[in-house]
Amino acid sequence: MQVTIDSKSGFCAGVTSAIRRAESELQQTGQLYCLGDIVHNGQEVKRLEQLGLETIDYDDLRTIHHARVLLRAHGEPPSTYWIARQNSNTIIDGTCPVVKRLQERIADCYNAHKHDTPQPQIVIFGKRGHAEVIGLQGQTNDTAIILEHPEEAQQLDYTRPIYLFSQTTKSVEELNRLAERIRSQIINHKSQIALEVHDTICRSVANRVEQLKTFVREQDIVLFVGGTKSSNAAVLFGHCKEANPNTIFLTGADDLTDELLQACRNADKVGICGATSTPLWLMEQVRDKLNGN
Ligand code: SF4
Repeated sequence: MQVTIDSKSGFCAGVTSAIRRAESELQQTGQLYCLGDIVHNGQEVKRLEQLGLETIDYDDLRTIHHARVLLRAHGEPPSTYWIARQNSNTIIDGTCPVVKRLQERIADCYNAHKHDTPQPQIVIFGKRGHAEVIGLQGQTNDTAIILEHPEEAQQLDYTRPIYLFSQTTKSVEELNRLAERIRSQIINHKSQIALEVHDTICRSVANRVEQLKTFVREQDIVLFVGGTKSSNAAVLFGHCKEANPNTIFLTGADDLTDELLQACRNADKVGICGATSTPLWLMEQVRDKLNGN
């Protein structure tokens, strides 16, 4: 049995940087609040909590004072900064620079067009309720319309201009499908409205799909390691399963049953891969257990 960890799997630059900030703060002070899970991986959160990180929610943020609060890579709406400042909390801003830039582009678009007639529609292609999307919508005073699927294009008003942006982790094909549907609806409505499509998908995620597919096709069995709360893990696992049906989802080495261990040991090539929220150490633990260490 040859066991290979996919060299492209693991934390993206944005998550790595937020975790480094947390570790460096914790080294100095031993205590830090983080608004929401720093990463959608329960085991990495647990590791950081053991170093002193405390995960809080929005209700907690309203009650704590004079504390240091880390904002994770997903970013936050302007209201979060305002609430933190009201309570004299210090923000450690771990927002990924790619997300920050997207927030600025949406805010610029909103401010440039908010007084236009007819009133424009800023559309965000993303998952409703996802932290990044909440942060993006906040740039528009919560007026942006969220569309989760290209099929929802018909919900838009085809008498008003459309400015389309995307959550960084959506798929490029899906965004293109949505843009196409909007264009068709504009034609169907015989409308003359402006449509601006901003491809704001993070390439570190978009490119990962093809890299992962290539990797999993070369394996007899694939162990995909990810957190159950991670939407990126769910999407990437789906792609892997499609490219290699012998792909199994694990949250960590403890999920390796005797039966699965035996199946892997009977295979020639076992590949281990994961999402942008999967720490390398978790994939290494799976590899070590497979190798009997
Ligand atoms: S996926 Fe891209 S945009 Fe999102 S945190 Fe990672 S590097 Fe940043």
